[in-house]
Amino acid sequence: GGRRRHGGGWDVERAGMMEFAALQQGLRGVFETGRTADVAWRERQLLALERMMAERENELADALMADLGKPRMEAWFGEIGMVMQEAKYLRRNLRKWAARRRVSTPLLGLPARSWTLAEPLGLVLIISPWNYPLQLPLAGLAAVLAAGNCAVIKPSELAPASSALLARLVAEYLDPECVKVVTGAVHETTCLLEMPWDHILYTGGGAIGRIVLAAAAKHLTPVTLELGGKSPCVVMADADLSVAARRIAWGKFMNAGQTCIAPDYVILVGSASLEKQLVAALQRTITEMFGEEPEQSESFGRIVNARHFERVLALIQDDRVNVAVGGHANADSRYIAPTVLTDVSADCAAMQEEIFGPVLPVMRMEDLESAMRFIRARDKPLAAYLFTKDAAVETRFEQQVSCGSMCINDTMFFMSVPELPFGGVGASGMGCYTGQHGFNTFSHNKAVMRRAWWPDLALRYAPYSTRKLEI
Ligand code: NAD
Repeated sequence: GGRRRHGGGWDVERAGMMEFAALQQGLRGVFETGRTADVAWRERQLLALERMMAERENELADALMADLGKPRMEAWFGEIGMVMQEAKYLRRNLRKWAARRRVSTPLLGLPARSWTLAEPLGLVLIISPWNYPLQLPLAGLAAVLAAGNCAVIKPSELAPASSALLARLVAEYLDPECVKVVTGAVHETTCLLEMPWDHILYTGGGAIGRIVLAAAAKHLTPVTLELGGKSPCVVMADADLSVAARRIAWGKFMNAGQTCIAPDYVILVGSASLEKQLVAALQRTITEMFGEEPEQSESFGRIVNARHFERVLALIQDDRVNVAVGGHANADSRYIAPTVLTDVSADCAAMQEEIFGPVLPVMRMEDLESAMRFIRARDKPLAAYLFTKDAAVETRFEQQVSCGSMCINDTMFFMSVPELPFGGVGASGMGCYTGQHGFNTFSHNKAVMRRAWWPDLALRYAPYSTRKLEI
């Protein structure tokens, strides 16, 4: 088959499969003993995860710096701190969620009791991408453990320092018989996907998402897909432009734009002169945040690799758009300046696919209806943003734009609310996690009914008769 090319030959491929089958068998054996279902075990694992993030913060931040030039503060609030917060929240609540939940039984079924019980699914495969190479696998892992499962993490090969550290630390801090990290690329992932899992959590692009879903179908494995897309950001004429510009720049330029929920493009609903004002406000805020020469700034990250650098650069070098702010790049360090594009139309390169880099196209439209029509004509985005002071506009946007998550008057901030689910819809994914939603995703909500022995009415049993039916 085609995979022989990657593995370097039939023997290597076979060895891979056998190795992974043994790994899975080991996990299955431990899971069957009920170790992971024990709520105290789950709490200890989550606490160990919190300790791992706190005690090894420096190493974790260094790995993120090596892979993405990620600034220290972004490493903290976008990855290390987020995992700690999520693990802690799950640890403090999981006992409540893992308990039986009574439901009422209708008269016909009485005397009886009915309840649901969340049970672990078993072995969960977590496949994650490079842009948040610690937060994405570990926040997923926290939910998987909270629900009492074993886990195999396949981190991204494009963030090698983070992936290697993850493998080392997970083995050191967590139960090594229940949590495994498999580093590797396409070959390893393909082998893993050939095996039966009880659930797969995949985060990454939609093209690979389709491969994962197809592979899972062969085993009837349920799948959570956390994908991306072009998240729109609508700015109304009544918005406070300088606050909006800051909040948009914050969401766009964090991690050099390589964030799945970054505002991908702006639609300004207003006049051409208002567009000039917005661009000026963006220019000001970029200078405030990153100085006159953002390349020297310690607050601005780098593009992950040469392929993505070339891809993002091509969006700026498109003749059809005007580079209003930034535009500079340095291939050696994979630096692309915080950039704002104007004169943007739907057919320019930047509007074709998710940008995933520090480039912000600004489109202009006459009214909210046109903006929403434009958004609805495209794939359902992972996030949508609106800046306005008008409550009626807010309600229309909320009701008429379908997306995974929405934030009004800011970008990305819903990530700080533990009770909100995180997940896409349509092309931006299926299923969700974080908080109780994650606990539910990786549990089976088993329905249980216990009937009393007495009475045992003859009514429902054969032989049937018209008399019985009349009662
Ligand atoms: P990536 O290239 O790291 O791929 C993701 C994973 O798929 C990796 O572990 C990789 O090894 C594996 N993979 C690659 N090719 C494969 C193949 N042929 N078969 C099986 N597995 C394979 O990451 P990416 O796709 O570039 O990630 C960026 C995308 O992820 C963006 O679209 C972004 O919006 C999205 N994303 C979504 C979320 C979310 O939570 N919804 C978070 C971050 C990123």
